[in-house]
Amino acid sequence: MPFSTLKLHAELLRGIRELGFAKPTPIQDEAIPPAMAGRDVLACAMTGSGKTAAFLLPILHRLIEKPRRTTRALVLTPTRELAAQILEDLNALAVHTPLTGAAVYGGVGMGPQEHAFRSGADVIIATPGRLLDHFRAPYAKLAGLEYLVLDEADRMLDMGFLPDIRRILRHIPARRQTMFFSATMPAPIATLAGEMLKNPVQISLQRQSAPAVGITQAVYPVSQELKAALFVQLLERNILREALVFTRTKHRANRLADYLVRHKIIAARIHGNRSQAQRTEALAGFKSGKYRVLVATDIAARGIDVEALSHVVNFDVPAVPDDYIHRVGRTGRAEATGDAFTFVSQAEEPDLRAIERAIGRSLPRVTLPDFDYHARPDTKLEIPLAERIAAIRARKSEERARARAKAERKGGGPGAPPARGGTWAPKAHGSAHASRGPRQSRSRS
Ligand code: AMP
Repeated sequence: MPFSTLKLHAELLRGIRELGFAKPTPIQDEAIPPAMAGRDVLACAMTGSGKTAAFLLPILHRLIEKPRRTTRALVLTPTRELAAQILEDLNALAVHTPLTGAAVYGGVGMGPQEHAFRSGADVIIATPGRLLDHFRAPYAKLAGLEYLVLDEADRMLDMGFLPDIRRILRHIPARRQTMFFSATMPAPIATLAGEMLKNPVQISLQRQSAPAVGITQAVYPVSQELKAALFVQLLERNILREALVFTRTKHRANRLADYLVRHKIIAARIHGNRSQAQRTEALAGFKSGKYRVLVATDIAARGIDVEALSHVVNFDVPAVPDDYIHRVGRTGRAEATGDAFTFVSQAEEPDLRAIERAIGRSLPRVTLPDFDYHARPDTKLEIPLAERIAAIRARKSEERARARAKAERKGGGPGAPPARGGTWAPKAHGSAHASRGPRQSRSRS
């Protein structure tokens, strides 16, 4: 059925047409009519199903009907990338309407976000931590809120956001329409949904237990040490035109990105330790074709929507089958086709078998012709733990020596007490407790 049967506002239909959406996806077909009628919605839906438009369209439709200069809709989402992506979708869908949206997330200045609250952006898309930071200020009142969306609720739970969500609920009106989206419905999520929703329409699309059709999945068995070389070969032979590649840790992401650059492959990286500016630049550069490869950790996997992306490579086998399905969901979206390659070392075989059980089929094993699977590795992506610890110890002992020398220079001999705020600590007791690390910053949001 075409979008016109959904009776959406004409200016929204224009936006939809210009985006090239021919007809609603199943989640849109099921969620939009009851949501337009004001019902709460509880939907089990994955990234890639078209869920963003499924909640944005009915909200935008209702907002156009009676415009006001105050924030009336809040979308809560787990990651910065996802918030930015949802805002992008909103701007495209609402391009012919006067409605405005703003994204509120950590890692960037509070100023422009404060402006969004003060000027009454119609829709605020926020990560929980940063939203709570704003709530401490008097300008961030959401007293006029009418619509609340919880996006990727299961992922928010995984990331430890449940207490933050409960705190946010205390700041917003209880009388509102709520839409709740989650890829999975474990017990704590079902409980939260029960607390937040009133007589919801329940939509459970056939759980997408396999990635979208149109994706060719293959497994490359290869030793851990030769994964980087195999990846470069696939790029050099143009079997991979471009690739979003996932590694297990930030450390491996960094080392792989360095390895690629050494092999003249233009690559960027995106993970939790990167600043917002760096992440935005990396993603934009990858989308525009400036970077051929984007190396990412799982945290970045959600919310990346790269049109016509041809390849996802799991450099390491994801430990959780759901993560595999999510990652592979980056490619082959909205009827495009794509490939998903997974590099598996012998130690990772059990994790791969768990994935195969979850998707209900075994994945074909592929070997790259003329690749020397017995070559001596030319790099080590992982510095053995013992070596890393030794390096940290050496650095610390150097720092201590420097601090001691400084204290001696300042004031009379090795036994002297430290200056205020100095790093000197008495040798005998408790020095381990004296040296706390820097305060952990809120890097989740
Ligand atoms: P989402 O599940 O919201 O992340 O959407 C996945 C992708 O599908 C995005 O690239 C959307 O732009 C696209 N999309 C959403 N709705 C439709 C539709 N009705 N027809 C074609 N593509 C769509």
